[in-house]
Amino acid sequence: MLRLRTVIFYFSLLLCFLKSSGKAQEYFDYQAATPCDLRVIEAMMLYFSTEFGNPSAPHAFGERAVTALSEARQKIARLLGGKAANWIFTSGATEANVLAICGVMRAAPQCKNHIIVCATEHKSILETCRSLTQQGYTLTVLPVDREGRLSLDLLKKSFRPETMLVSIMAANNEIGVIHPVAQIADICRKRGVLFHTDATQAIGLIPFSVSLIGADLVSFSGHKIYGPKGIGALYVASHVKIAPLLFGGGQERGLRAGTEPVALCVGLAKALEIAEALRSQEGRRLARLQSLFLRRLQMLKGWRLNGSLQERLPNNVNISIEGVDREDLLPALPDFALSTGSACTSEAHFSHVLAALDPEDTSPPAALRISFGRGTTGASVRHLADRLIEVVQRLRATKPAAGKRACKTKKTEVRI
Ligand code: PMP
Repeated sequence: MLRLRTVIFYFSLLLCFLKSSGKAQEYFDYQAATPCDLRVIEAMMLYFSTEFGNPSAPHAFGERAVTALSEARQKIARLLGGKAANWIFTSGATEANVLAICGVMRAAPQCKNHIIVCATEHKSILETCRSLTQQGYTLTVLPVDREGRLSLDLLKKSFRPETMLVSIMAANNEIGVIHPVAQIADICRKRGVLFHTDATQAIGLIPFSVSLIGADLVSFSGHKIYGPKGIGALYVASHVKIAPLLFGGGQERGLRAGTEPVALCVGLAKALEIAEALRSQEGRRLARLQSLFLRRLQMLKGWRLNGSLQERLPNNVNISIEGVDREDLLPALPDFALSTGSACTSEAHFSHVLAALDPEDTSPPAALRISFGRGTTGASVRHLADRLIEVVQRLRATKPAAGKRACKTKKTEVRI
């Protein structure tokens, strides 16, 4: 029976593959989304089909759904630390972040109304905090240096008697800069302030454990770790008082009403298990690809790496290139799935992260975010680097006026 199901599963996958009409592009946008691992899809299939029961239902279907949910939760706790009951399933990292910030602040005493975040946080943190300021809460947004790093001294000086929560991401989604979250957690603990970290980009790539770090709240998401979209989780330590955002059901310890998407929860746990098993080997491989790309790009002049090279995720490269217009760059590279990062305020794709690295620069050069993943090979990295050099040289030759936008910072020192 199981064999037959596996055969049908792979046959349907083959059909999907044949039907897909996507334009063949080499994929370099793993920080935006990763493909769902086939083992994850396989693990979820059962809960989309025969085991479709509602975990709140009072019969055997419901009981089996409860068992699947509880096994998924236990797996997450085993891999990332904390107790299983401390992990709350959400629809993704956005919801986890909003629940962490709003939930903690709503449950806090009135006099504890101050939040500290960093300027390069994900918008789900920044905009949530800004919306809270309209309800009387106060907010400190810490600047970063040119390399995207936070000053711990500045953090220490920003605490007030009314500070309730600090939220600093573990690693940045645009420039890959890793923050020293264990040190930050320690600073917060000594002051009796709660610490939340958005670990969406870090989990599965660098070692991460809520217990070792000592964070009070942690968010992450399925679709960054080769799991499904629409699922994530928030760790809430037992001592944290938090108010729910969704009402109308007692699910997730009363913190997140709504029928649990059992298949997605199973998929999240399976994706995490695979990502953790591969992490150190894959991390080293990605770091080699990152070095290879940066080394290859040394053949081009007039570009800079955005964000620190040393404190950086192994899968991220973010570069600004002088002498080309950002609106010309992506269309000239149609064979690659890439992401831009622009800090120019007139652009729809405004990057608050790049703007935070150099707030004075009102006319920054074109920027590209390139992110590597399991499907990236040395050959694909060399192909991208060579095409990029060629395209930039051609664009510079045809539109020399664009050279006005120069890269301001130092030459990139590449680790080989
Ligand atoms: N935080 C970070 C750092 C992210 O990179 C993302 C996704 N871009 C999110 C939060 C939001 O995650 P989700 O798409 O699961 O809501």
